[in-house]
Amino acid sequence: MDHQLRKIEEYKKDLEDIRGQYVFLRKMIDTFDLPIVRISCQDLKVIDINKKAFSIIKSLSPSIKLINKIKDCKIENLFKTSDYYQCISDVIKEKKSMYLNKINHIINGNDIYWNVIFEPIYDVNGELKEILILIIDVTAEIKANLDMKRELKLQSEFFVNISHDLKTPLNVISATAQLFNMYCNSGSLDENKGSIIKYIESIKQNSYRLSKLINNIVDLSKIQAGFFKLNLSNNNIVEVVEEIVMSVTNFTESKGINIIFDTDIEEKNIACDLEKIERMVLNLISNAIKFTDEGGEIFVDVKDKNEFVEISVKDNGIGIEKNHLDIIFDRFKQVDKSLSRNTEGTGIGLSLVKSIIELHGGSTYAKSEVGKGSKFTVMLPSNKILH
Ligand code: ADP
Repeated sequence: MDHQLRKIEEYKKDLEDIRGQYVFLRKMIDTFDLPIVRISCQDLKVIDINKKAFSIIKSLSPSIKLINKIKDCKIENLFKTSDYYQCISDVIKEKKSMYLNKINHIINGNDIYWNVIFEPIYDVNGELKEILILIIDVTAEIKANLDMKRELKLQSEFFVNISHDLKTPLNVISATAQLFNMYCNSGSLDENKGSIIKYIESIKQNSYRLSKLINNIVDLSKIQAGFFKLNLSNNNIVEVVEEIVMSVTNFTESKGINIIFDTDIEEKNIACDLEKIERMVLNLISNAIKFTDEGGEIFVDVKDKNEFVEISVKDNGIGIEKNHLDIIFDRFKQVDKSLSRNTEGTGIGLSLVKSIIELHGGSTYAKSEVGKGSKFTVMLPSNKILH
């Protein structure tokens, strides 16, 4: 009798141990960061679901509020796509694990991607009892891949644009050299003096265009590689901007565009990288010229805003559509060429403007209306450095 009692006691203790382990295991699974769902093979109803899986199912079907509501729910009511159901049927039929790769769902308006594993679970007799569904969120990986693909596409477009932009001025320069050669050989240099002067001007313009493009590419590459350093000195920003405007007036005149400089201060010394600021203003002005038709006007303003200096370049050119305004500062981004009516450009000028201003601790804004014109404004902090 004693012996039997002891056996019962031992049996009860074993049972308690097993129960304790079961509770411990359940708790552990419940705290996993991996979504897990257990499905019964008999009726395809949910037997159990951990917290993580519940939270994502709640986002997929917001009507489900309580975890108990999910238990006993049919699988097709949880995952609306038929792929899940198909996989479960295949696990039952073929008695082996099944996988779904890069399944796309939209949760709270965001695209998410899952790899889903369907694992068969057998009982002690080797009978298929349950299916374990494990969900692995691969959104970050997929998005990184998509971003990389997009970046590679942008880069190849950039190389096409850049080759065009390098070739065009080079063609002009080499054609002009051939023409001069012809004048030399035929001894007609003197009689063609008038046109030669014009051609020299065109060589100059095209050389400027080339050097601006090359400088932009070099600077942008340096920024990307993290090598871009500002060489700060105190400069009268009013004078700096005015001089750039003066330097392009001949060119704007030849295009029939009026460029007007205005300021509310005569002198404002701020710490800036002279060369980079000149390049930044030149990029804004050359865009304004590029996208403004003959007879148009460009206003370049410098305003004192105490802690900041505001530099703006306004044109009454073709303008930019509202939905494009956000992307034009992104690297390699150009507004659709058919809209810009312009084949020149690589989409790096504005991204460089933004980076240069950000490195100075300032900010950049754009306002535009199609058919009316655009206004680009940069705010530069009016700091000074001590020599
Ligand atoms: P790009 O070399 O193509 O000019 P940017 O980065 O300087 O590169 O400009 C990006 C795009 O922004 C341009 O392709 C053009 O579509 C648009 N854009 C920039 N400035 C102007 C402007 N003043 N007027 C109209 N569109 C502009």
